[in-house]
Amino acid sequence: MVEIVKNIEGIRSRLPMSVELVAVSKTHPVEYILEAYSCGQRIFGENKVQEMDQKHEALKDSCPDIKWHLIGHLQTNKVKYITSYVDMIHSVDSLKLLQEIDKHAKKDGRVIKCLFEMHIASEETKFGLDRDELVQILESQEFKLLQNVKICGLMGMASNTDDTEKVRMEMRSLKETFDFVKKNYFAKDLDFREISMGMSSDWKIAIQEGSTMVRIGSTIFGKRIYAVNSK
Ligand SMILES: *Cc1c(COP(=O)(O)O)cnc(C)c1O
Repeated sequence: MVEIVKNIEGIRSRLPMSVELVAVSKTHPVEYILEAYSCGQRIFGENKVQEMDQKHEALKDSCPDIKWHLIGHLQTNKVKYITSYVDMIHSVDSLKLLQEIDKHAKKDGRVIKCLFEMHIASEETKFGLDRDELVQILESQEFKLLQNVKICGLMGMASNTDDTEKVRMEMRSLKETFDFVKKNYFAKDLDFREISMGMSSDWKIAIQEGSTMVRIGSTIFGKRIYAVNSK
């Protein structure tokens, strides 16, 4: 049995007040989410549109105050499925995607909180922007026209390694990019304040390096079991 409430309370007791906990419920059943909900957890992170949709549908009446955060890669053709309810999208990695989110958010009469996903790991496979690409987006005319997205900060995933110094340096680089972007583009914008970094293996380092949102899955819900032939 997974002791979800105990796990959440254990993490909470070590989180500074200023850091939000995103409970990453991907691959886990709705019952697990309900258990986390019972001890006050409200933000849940999912990495697939279809799975998040199904869980939102199952829980929207009984738990209308759940905040759904999309943390995984988002394809532009799937944006339309989530803009009516998603609270925050952590994984914006192109202007085209941001424009698509803006377009559908407008249709749904909403403003959607977004984070730019930055590429900080040395692994080639991870998604995300580098600093120059982000600056290019922020300086574009197209970006300035967007009205239905609210840029709240940056997200990053450190390398999956036991080398904690490497993880720390990658996280530090995300904090530095955040400070640079804040100073040059969002100095007066109080909403630009989030640094989403830290997972089960590295959230304690992430907090030391300035994280404001940790995304924790297995430490709360246990190991994920993936179906054969799916990622
Ligand atoms: C799965 C996932 C997490 C949580 O991973 P754990 O190691 O289970 O805590 C965090 N962030 C992203 C983007 C993920 O896909």
